[in-house]
Amino acid sequence: MSLLAVTDLKKSFGGNVAVDGVGFELAAGELLALIGPNGAGKSTIFNMIGGQLAADSGSIMLGDMALRGLSSRKIARLGVGRTFQIAATFSSMTVLENVQTALVARHGRVYSFWHPAHEIYRSDALALLAQVGMQEHAFKPCRELAYGDVKRVELAMGLANDPKLLLMDEPTAGMASAERHALFSLIKSLAEKRRMAVLFTEHSMDVVFAYADRIIVLARGTLIAQGSAQDVRNHPKVQEVYFGS
Ligand code: ADP
Ligand code: MG
Repeated sequence: MSLLAVTDLKKSFGGNVAVDGVGFELAAGELLALIGPNGAGKSTIFNMIGGQLAADSGSIMLGDMALRGLSSRKIARLGVGRTFQIAATFSSMTVLENVQTALVARHGRVYSFWHPAHEIYRSDALALLAQVGMQEHAFKPCRELAYGDVKRVELAMGLANDPKLLLMDEPTAGMASAERHALFSLIKSLAEKRRMAVLFTEHSMDVVFAYADRIIVLARGTLIAQGSAQDVRNHPKVQEVYFGS
């Protein structure tokens, strides 16, 4: 049985059909790339799965739980994580404090005289930072980090939710090629270790072909191809959309 099953999903904004009957499945531990030109509907699909946007029709099943109509908070609690963008206001906080904040958001506060707020989830947060190779930066303010390292912290924050499925919409935006590969090889090894599925969008075909187990291609709200790198690369409709041939 698949972890996530999306069926005939639709969403319009006014007269503009952004997502026009999309369906796909995702298995536990699988890395699935959702690709397509700008405006294809990728982010809209992410937002419907995460509960930030209401679908017009279709179904989104996580195991046997229907996600449509649930709040984004509830969906997160059911095991769908997404990478946070570290907001500008959090950039003065340390790396550790940012991850602690994500853990507090997940579990709620456990204030007590013996556990002042800044001590909450400290060891859990340090363990998450170790998983993304950022423990030696724990006490630095985020604003002092290199861009690629900020993305690692955002990944650790996404993991704070202990997700079964992690949604990553353009996690490598603004990164150089070597950094993109480093982040994705980390994501791939974490997915294997945790048996966590990852649904991601990514502009670099290089990265998509190197790390995705399977690829689905979207154009103007419709799924035009899916399969392995090999299947997708040679698909005539994909050639047409990407290369205009
Ligand atoms: P992608 O992430 O693939 O670039 P999007 O899902 O962001 O594409 O957008 C798909 C289409 O939906 C585009 O035509 C976009 O202009 C439109 N769209 C997305 N979000 C909104 C919104 N909140 N209001 C109106 N139109 C939107
Ligand atoms: Mg987008």
